[in-house]
Amino acid sequence: MHAIGIDIGGTKIAGALVDEFGSILKSDRVPTPAGDPRLIEDAVVAMVQGLSAGQQVAAVGVAAAGFIDAAQSTVYYAPNINWRNEPFRAKLEARLDLPVVIENDANAAGWAEFRYGAGRLYSDMVTLTIGTGVGGAIVSRDRLLRGGFGVGAELGHLRVVPDGLPCGCGAHGCIEQYGSGRALLRMANEYADAGGIGQTLAEVRAQRGELRGEDVAELIVAGDGGALAALRQLGHWLGQASASLSAVLDPQVFVFGGGVASAGELLLEPIRSAYLDHLPARGFHPEPKFLVAELVNDAGVVGAADLARLSTGQE
Ligand SMILES: [Zn+2]
Repeated sequence: MHAIGIDIGGTKIAGALVDEFGSILKSDRVPTPAGDPRLIEDAVVAMVQGLSAGQQVAAVGVAAAGFIDAAQSTVYYAPNINWRNEPFRAKLEARLDLPVVIENDANAAGWAEFRYGAGRLYSDMVTLTIGTGVGGAIVSRDRLLRGGFGVGAELGHLRVVPDGLPCGCGAHGCIEQYGSGRALLRMANEYADAGGIGQTLAEVRAQRGELRGEDVAELIVAGDGGALAALRQLGHWLGQASASLSAVLDPQVFVFGGGVASAGELLLEPIRSAYLDHLPARGFHPEPKFLVAELVNDAGVVGAADLARLSTGQE
């Protein structure tokens, strides 16, 4: 039986009809009508109707950034959309005549990686997605860990520096401030300011007016010393955070996603090295695998569809 996955992002709504092997049979995308919850609801309903026409569909999974309740029906808070305590599941089910589940977008993407991507050979997995911020998902004993209120696995807000840099969440010292794409840019600017190995970064910055993520990515590929040093610093923080996560969750695999993770081994090597340096009881703890995510663009819709299908009792 097929299911439909919808991923509501800040700029676009993506949707797909997905089969029980995680393959996309049909897909669609529209710009997000930002700021108007009613227009977003209309857009999701239209997309589901288009994707399900002439198909046998078991359920609909909707992924969005934000806090979703444990019953997967109410969105407590969504930063990109103007939602506060939005009963989105009930609203969609009233219009669609299909079972609906709502899921946090990082959880949906992590679940897809666990079922069909880099985590498929393991029962216990942690994903860290390095975008503008840091997203996370936890699978423990083959189950997605959502927590008692449904809002767990906010791994980007794991504190790595007591009284460290202020974070958008209101706390200080979160890994999001040290291990995200935005943090990489800050570190690259610091190398540019310092001269020495940061000289090329400083030249590119002077040409462009400011350093952009793609400038740093290009310099990493080109083997520039300053850009690689910034990436190592990022990996160092992510490795430390992974060591703390290992002490709590003991995953067999860490999967890193997001644009920065496309640096591959250049990022994984410093992560692994910092992980081992900070691992409690090092030498007695079996070493997990460190891998790059495989389902780059479609993870959100595939994971949302899969979770929706499983929620109806279908394998
Ligand atoms: Zn935070």
